[in-house]
Amino acid sequence: MAKIAFIGLGNMGSGMCANLCKAGHEVHAFDLNHEAVKAAVEKGAVAAASVMHAVTGAEVVVSMLPAGKHVLTVYFGDEGVAAYAEPGTLFLDCSTIAVEDAREAAKLAEAAGFLMADAPVSGGTAAANAGTLTFMCGGPDAAFAKARPVLEAMGKNIFHAGASGNGQAAKIANNMLLGISMIGTCEAFNLAEKLGLDAQTFFDISSVSSGQCWSMTSYCPAPGPVPTSPANRDYTPGFAVAMMLKDLRLAAGAAQSAGAKITLGEMAEKIYDDLDARGFAGLDFSGVMKDLKGDL
Ligand code: NAD
Repeated sequence: MAKIAFIGLGNMGSGMCANLCKAGHEVHAFDLNHEAVKAAVEKGAVAAASVMHAVTGAEVVVSMLPAGKHVLTVYFGDEGVAAYAEPGTLFLDCSTIAVEDAREAAKLAEAAGFLMADAPVSGGTAAANAGTLTFMCGGPDAAFAKARPVLEAMGKNIFHAGASGNGQAAKIANNMLLGISMIGTCEAFNLAEKLGLDAQTFFDISSVSSGQCWSMTSYCPAPGPVPTSPANRDYTPGFAVAMMLKDLRLAAGAAQSAGAKITLGEMAEKIYDDLDARGFAGLDFSGVMKDLKGDL
């Protein structure tokens, strides 16, 4: 079992940290929010008063932070992780951040004698709490080999996607597809209903026809056919519009620097940006359905 520093005990990090403790690791937990540290201690972690306290003597540092600027500051800023970690320590960042930021972080880590992997997740807070996240990792083989047993305590599907930043690339390409397919699914259900089909009839047909997709069969945006989907609880998240918008913006930035054409990705970003601007950032991302029906 490893001595692990965990930084960022928010909606996702709290459950992930608890699962590392449950697996028998010695986890030293730090967050700017003291309440979050207290809650982690109740689930088996040791409280750390600072990054320095968390990181000193740790073999692995796991982070789950809001965005790239937080990750770069926490690891490489003054009083950051790199100032206190032992050479050879694995930096395992599970946050969703820009591909460029992940590659920059990996370069800085490597230059200073550390191993680093980006390991963003698919799955929300329920999967974080249950230890069933999907991890997509980018980084050298040695980093992935050291990361795997740690990730296995927090997730079910662990992929090595290639070099540094490739985990983030997989994550944003996947989520861009999800945003596009969700909007398409909403439009299809709305059209079918306006043409006289009820949602269940259209679902029965399309879910075994060529329009079938995850947004339909696992997360149906029309109330009724999939009982667990947020459509059945007035579109409370789930996965909020704000989170989808964050990922679509990351995809747009990455597409621009890579010279990739993402016409539908840009349209999806516009649709979620509009919902956000109208005050619906906290609505589930399948709430596009509600908007199409004129119910927002
Ligand atoms: P959150 O805002 O709930 O948690 C972030 C935590 O980081 C907070 O507790 C905050 O206090 C802490 N923090 C910020 N700056 C810090 C610093 N300098 N030092 C120490 N702690 C600091 O966010 P979240 O929902 O847990 O998401 C975390 C990451 O996971 C994001 O990158 C998000 O895009 C990604 N993600 C979230 C979900 C989800 O459903 N919530 C799903 C997949 C991926």
